[in-house]
Amino acid sequence: MVGDENECAFAKAQLKKLEKCLKLSESEFNLLKKPKRSLAFTIPLKMDSGEIVFLNSYRVQYNDALGPTKGGIRFHSEVNLEEAKTLAFLMALKCALFELPYGGAKGGVEVNPRALSKAELERLSRGFVREIHNFIGPDLDIPAPDINTDEQVMAWMFDEYSKIKGRLAPGVFTGKPLALGGSKGRDVATAMGGAYILRLLEAMDELNPCELRLAIQGFGNAGLNAARILCERGYKIIALSNSRQGIYNKQGLDIPFIISNYRERWFPEMEGVEPISNNELLELDCDVLIPAALSNQITAENAERVKARIVVELANAPTAPEADDILFRNGVKVLPDILANAGGVIVSYFEWIQNSSNEYWSEQKVFERLEKTMENAFYQIVRTSQQEKCDYRTASYIIAVMNILNAERLRGSL
Ligand code: NAD
Repeated sequence: MVGDENECAFAKAQLKKLEKCLKLSESEFNLLKKPKRSLAFTIPLKMDSGEIVFLNSYRVQYNDALGPTKGGIRFHSEVNLEEAKTLAFLMALKCALFELPYGGAKGGVEVNPRALSKAELERLSRGFVREIHNFIGPDLDIPAPDINTDEQVMAWMFDEYSKIKGRLAPGVFTGKPLALGGSKGRDVATAMGGAYILRLLEAMDELNPCELRLAIQGFGNAGLNAARILCERGYKIIALSNSRQGIYNKQGLDIPFIISNYRERWFPEMEGVEPISNNELLELDCDVLIPAALSNQITAENAERVKARIVVELANAPTAPEADDILFRNGVKVLPDILANAGGVIVSYFEWIQNSSNEYWSEQKVFERLEKTMENAFYQIVRTSQQEKCDYRTASYIIAVMNILNAERLRGSL
């Protein structure tokens, strides 16, 4: 039997795991196991030296039954088509879980952005848009920031798209700077959403935040803002890491001091702080583990040694499908990525609404609507997990998959 190279291995594995709770017909399974469209393209990038390099780039539009596809663009040396498919599948589920009028997408460039000058980064961002402008648009596919792409990258991309099309189209990218139609609160939305979900779980399980010790992997948009917000709410953060180093203090880290003195991905020197490796951080004796960096960090190999009682997945796909069963068996509550890190896409949706109405919201309105949206989904997931006697990831998938399939049926695709 010849393999199907369009299939997404991650989607297939996750859909098969759903079988115990959700019987999918063969055509439903076949529809969901592969993306609607995968683009693999090459961006020629002129370096400051005059040399031209050719960068492998991808955009995957997984499913668009519920609306235009939506998802980030990542610049990273490990970007590849399979990863883009996995992340696009997760975006499709995330948007469906929250009943946002979007399908899911993801894209990226295989590049180490730290080796680029600012001018090269700008040419790369504009080059990305030149290659895919016919496949994106405010009612077609709407990219956003992800690893190593920030609001400046979105500003260049939005500018390039508007120049090519000859009209302003702010709704084609979200995560833009405020001055170019960005939304208040978007910069911290992913972390804020994760904090809301953690609080909801605590209230339900009658936990005291001041007694919880947290470890956070990744100190970028998601991880740094989570550390700041959660520290302000009284949690004790005992370990942090990034791609360069990790730090640990059993008594708790001074987060405001760390944030104000964080330079070039180096944490400041502090008394009583020990170095810690990324693997040690994942297996640390703590109450809440927050992976906020890359995929595939908790695996079948190390899941047994995870000591945290709660895992809040701010990163996308930080837990491998095989590791889930081990965590569940050991009583670890996993707040899955499509729930816990959805604050970013929810506020991106608010940004898109504001761009089309030209009416801009206060930060208070953004956060109130974000909190309400997350609360509704959280309780729906808890109810489903109780009914089906399953973990929160499975419950989230059941709700999301049913929403997508319902739309597909109404459209006549099933
Ligand atoms: P970012 O580029 O701002 O930060 C990434 C962080 O991860 C950096 O601190 C980097 O040093 C660290 N890192 C990289 N490799 C690491 C490693 N091997 N070990 C430990 N740390 C490592 O990216 P971000 O926007 O914060 O995204 C982080 C994760 O959150 C990604 O999985 C992303 O898909 C997910 N996410 C982000 C958003 C958003 O709005 N930014 C929304 C949803 C999900």
